[in-house]
Amino acid sequence: MIDQTVFNNKKAAYYTLGCKLNFAETSTIGKLLAEQGVRKVRPGEKADICVVNTCSVTELADKKCRQAIRRISKQHPGAFIVVTGCYAQLKPEEVSHIEGVDLVLGAEQKLEILQYLENLEKKEHGGTVIASQSKDIRSFSPSCSADDRTRHFLKVQDGCDYYCSYCTIPFARGRSRNGTIASMVEQAQEVALLHFGNKIYIRGLIEISNCCRNNCYYCGIRKGNPNIERYRLSRESILNCCKQGYELGFRTFVLQGGEDPALTNDQIEMTVARIRQEYPDCAITLSLGEKSREAYERFFRAGANRYLLRHETYNELHYRQLHPAEMSGKRRLQCLADLKEIGYQTGTGIMVGSPGQTVEHIIEDLLFIEKLRPEMIGIGPFLPHHDTPFAEYPSGTAEQTILLLSIFRLMHPSALIPATTALATLIPDGRERGILAGANVVMPNLSPREERRKYELYNDKASLGAESAEGLAALQKQLKTIGYEISTERGDFKYTTENI
Ligand code: SAH
Repeated sequence: MIDQTVFNNKKAAYYTLGCKLNFAETSTIGKLLAEQGVRKVRPGEKADICVVNTCSVTELADKKCRQAIRRISKQHPGAFIVVTGCYAQLKPEEVSHIEGVDLVLGAEQKLEILQYLENLEKKEHGGTVIASQSKDIRSFSPSCSADDRTRHFLKVQDGCDYYCSYCTIPFARGRSRNGTIASMVEQAQEVALLHFGNKIYIRGLIEISNCCRNNCYYCGIRKGNPNIERYRLSRESILNCCKQGYELGFRTFVLQGGEDPALTNDQIEMTVARIRQEYPDCAITLSLGEKSREAYERFFRAGANRYLLRHETYNELHYRQLHPAEMSGKRRLQCLADLKEIGYQTGTGIMVGSPGQTVEHIIEDLLFIEKLRPEMIGIGPFLPHHDTPFAEYPSGTAEQTILLLSIFRLMHPSALIPATTALATLIPDGRERGILAGANVVMPNLSPREERRKYELYNDKASLGAESAEGLAALQKQLKTIGYEISTERGDFKYTTENI
């Protein structure tokens, strides 16, 4: 048990030298102390505890650390000074004799700091050293920092097994090891809680047409599928869905559909304008595929606020594996650039585990999304549809989808990320698992009941119970079991100076 009384009314100052990993770890130390009630000093204030996280890549780094420690002990007279990090691990005795140092913690003790801050009494004759031998370092302490607030730095790996003659890392940090996926998912959950609390935004999904000019190999409503009954909702029917949705509490309507050649831009514009007129307080999201810039502009002027257009895959060769020759990945990326420029809150994303997808492709997707900075990120598992060329391919896995959800949450803390219907279709608790990995949006189905089964993008697509607009009570209950609740807000992306 840690004696909390030593931390009463205490303030701490943190200093980090060296790499991003050190910054992430200092941030975690700060969090541990904050949980004990120790607040961070404000500029100019004197600290009771100083934590110095050192670096040791070169002789010069050691010198800089020594200077920093001396400066800090002068700036905060009487403060209890803890030194940790690579310099502390490599030369603990030397560090313990630097003036003012009270405690030296090795790499393995760094994040167990609370255990070693017993009485905070300054040491007269050199600091106490607590450090494991480098060869015995085995543990991995998860860490994450959000210092610049635009993204989070997550520690995924520590130490190294290559003993390069010029590098101290294997000695300063021990052998190569990494964190668990579960701990990363937990970090993502914390980041989502930090940004959105336990609130989940809801969107009413209206599937306005299952007619499509395209022949994507994965999609059940592709033009080449002769076995589905095609439908197109009339404007009145769409407005009726909105009416029902509004009464149920939805403040975002998502109009999604195939690229229906019979649905003209004029008609779409008109429908958007009518919804805008009747529901001035609601957000209108479109997800109608690739259109000309001019069409996007018209829809925007008519009142649409958001647009969802997954890029599906950034890699051109992989794009070719998923789509017939007449389709173009470049064109899709151009659409995304147009949407962003016009001012839509723009969503993109991928299917996880689509046929031919490799880890390298996913990395390209991560980098593309990092650059695009979409306001919304939609990712769900690929699921086969029996009437497509990919009928026999296996589904993407829940594990990989959840892992990616959490990576996206950490990379884009303020993004709107749905726990997708595809994930909820794949595993019974997909909705909850998605939320617990950092998702903060759900999109229950608001289409007319008789049409729902016809919008079958993949086998057994869920559209009932908590997946349906009428099932909000069931959804609320489901969320409650994991400590979350539905937000009645419109749930726009919140722009700050840091995330644009
Ligand atoms: N026509 C629109 C909307 C497509 S449906 C557009 O082109 O954007 C929305 C998303 O469903 C697609 O972007 C795709 O990522 C996903 N989807 C389609 N078929 C799927 C399948 N078999 N498994 C999982 N997701 C699928």
